[in-house]
Amino acid sequence: MQWLRQFFSRDTPRIPDLLWQDCVMRLAFLQRLSPIELERLKALSETLLGKKTFTGAAGFELTDEIAVDIAAQASLPVLNLTLDLYADMAGIIVYPSAFIIPQSEMDEAGVVHEWHEPASGEAVGAGGAVVLSWEDVQERGAPGYNVVIHEFAHKIDMGDGRANGCPPFLAAWHEGLDPRLWQRTFSAAYADFDRRVHALEDQLPDDFDDADEADAALYDELLGTLPLDPYAARHPAEFFAVASEAFFVLPEPLADDYPEIYRLLAQYYRQDPLRR
Ligand SMILES: [Zn+2]
Repeated sequence: MQWLRQFFSRDTPRIPDLLWQDCVMRLAFLQRLSPIELERLKALSETLLGKKTFTGAAGFELTDEIAVDIAAQASLPVLNLTLDLYADMAGIIVYPSAFIIPQSEMDEAGVVHEWHEPASGEAVGAGGAVVLSWEDVQERGAPGYNVVIHEFAHKIDMGDGRANGCPPFLAAWHEGLDPRLWQRTFSAAYADFDRRVHALEDQLPDDFDDADEADAALYDELLGTLPLDPYAARHPAEFFAVASEAFFVLPEPLADDYPEIYRLLAQYYRQDPLRR
């Protein structure tokens, strides 16, 4: 973290050019950006690195490359908006791999069930941190998958309270967006996507075992026909976060299957990745 240490001690932080070029080389979806957009993304990443604390957890050693990679991906959704959308974020915590989050849920009988679940990322509400698993951040196998954009989309969504799939509309840029239209369009797309996921899951054998090679291949084949990660069917807030990932990383299937969602996201983020 040699460079980061120098970087934090300066008034006007600058990411060294070579480090920035390497970052753009690694993140293919950034190569769609124009030179002017890339310049602005770099400036936003520098501000984010200067303002927020990046911390390695569980012995993870945070390098300059890793911090710049995360900052660049986190800055992409706000490229044409404002970093103020992350104003209440305490900082960014990076684990080497999946970390365990305690979960609890009350059932219909009023009994609270508690369990632990491994997570690739978490956006903690009410001014909390964004927590990431570096192993999952690097996961570029699944099409359209991007943990950093996913978690920062949650942060944006939480800007007006809890995550519900409807981010705050900003007076400066979002006057053309109608909250009722947003709600209606996202609810309809979410319901449709949920129905599609269930219809595909119904085709899986009753004794489905994801550790079994043939079952796993069948699962990938069936769910691979979807424009989004099936995780989007878990909650409207997840649908917004997963659709945002796809919008920036692999927008074509989303635009084909849910053109109105693509259009609303393009209006919200004030970017049109398909036209780049
Ligand atoms: Zn999520």
